[in-house]
Formats: sequence, structure tokens, C-alpha cells
Amino acid sequence: MGAATGLRVDHAVTSGTFSLDGETFDVDNNIWVVGDDTECVVIDAPHSVEDILAVVGERTVKAIVLTHAHDDHCRMAPPLRAAANGGSGAPIMLHPDDRPLWELTHGGPDDEDATLWDLDLADGQEISVGGTTLTVIHTPGHAPGAVCLYSADLGAVFTGDTLFHGGPGATGRSFSDRPTLEASIRASLFDLPADTVVHTGHGDDTTIGAEADALGR
Ligand SMILES: [Zn+2]
Repeated sequence: MGAATGLRVDHAVTSGTFSLDGETFDVDNNIWVVGDDTECVVIDAPHSVEDILAVVGERTVKAIVLTHAHDDHCRMAPPLRAAANGGSGAPIMLHPDDRPLWELTHGGPDDEDATLWDLDLADGQEISVGGTTLTVIHTPGHAPGAVCLYSADLGAVFTGDTLFHGGPGATGRSFSDRPTLEASIRASLFDLPADTVVHTGHGDDTTIGAEADALGR
């Protein structure tokens, strides 16, 4: 075994709401935590800091990486940032193209209590954790700053709401675009090995091969 010995993925589901364009829906969100027994990266911060920290356990949180800034993925990022690592904090990472969505939840330039994320994500960036790397893949469409995170060691990609079991994510609301989403998926995800496991933002896992066969390359 190589440097990635002890690499693991932990998972939980939280329940809460998603709001956009004046409507609110009940949703269940997947929480994914990638790392080893000593350190981890948290992927998305949905409805409950307590539920996320229960998955983290005693491990060091190296970063809170957001797949995009819909409120059901980013709402708890600031309080999680504050609570992580025994209160010494952890950086929130987000692709800057999602700033308009982030500001809907966490305030903009005119809001006194506004807060920002800490580090910008960029296409091709590599995030090291637990002896592996998560490669950032910018996949605009569901949201302009949506990203997926690929780990060759895990044979897995974390897709947020870009790709689900059963097809691409929703594009019916503001800041979404279906042709852009399909182009992102075809250009950036369907090139991954067919047996790559897709860990989604909502619902069941799938594989790249199954979704490529269903949507067509
Ligand atoms: Zn979303």
C-alpha cells in the first residue's frame, strides 16, 4: 500500500430545506468527509454543524470544501468554520463564480453581518488530505461555480448537484443552465474511468459509466 493507507470516506445525511427564487423545499443532503484517521476535508455544509462534526470526530478539519453555494450546501459553512478544530477554525473553499449564490445566504457588500469564504477554488487545483489528493473540476451549469472533486485513489468523484443517480442536476432556477451543465458533464466527468463511483449531493451513489450510458456521451 502507498501513502493513501487509511484513506476513508465517511457519510451522513442531514434533513432541512433548500430555498431559491422565493420558494422553499424540504431536502435531504449528503455530507461527505474524506481523509484518514487524523485529518479530513468536509465536502459541503448543509443543515447541521452537530451532524457534520459527528462524522468528523476528533480529526483535524483541513478545509470545508463547497461543491456550490446553494443554501442547502453552504448554509452551515460559517458556523462550522468557527466550531471546527476545537474552535480554532478551518477555511471555507468555494469557486468564486458562485459569489452571487453565496451572497443570497451569507450577505453581500451592503450587509453589515455579511461573511465570505476564505479560499477560492480553481479548476485543476489539488487539495491534499489523508495521503491522497482531491482534484477540483469546475463544472458550471447547475451553478456557475459548481465543482466536482475527484480522487483517483478512491476511484470516486464527489459531484454535489452536478450529477446524480439518474442524470444531471436541476437547472430550472436562477443561475442554472442545462446546456452548460450537460457540456460540463460530457467534457469533464465522462472522461473519468467508467467504474468511478459518483458520490452525489442528494440521494444514492452511481457510477460514471452508468450515467454516461444513460445520458449519452
Ligand atoms: Zn444545488
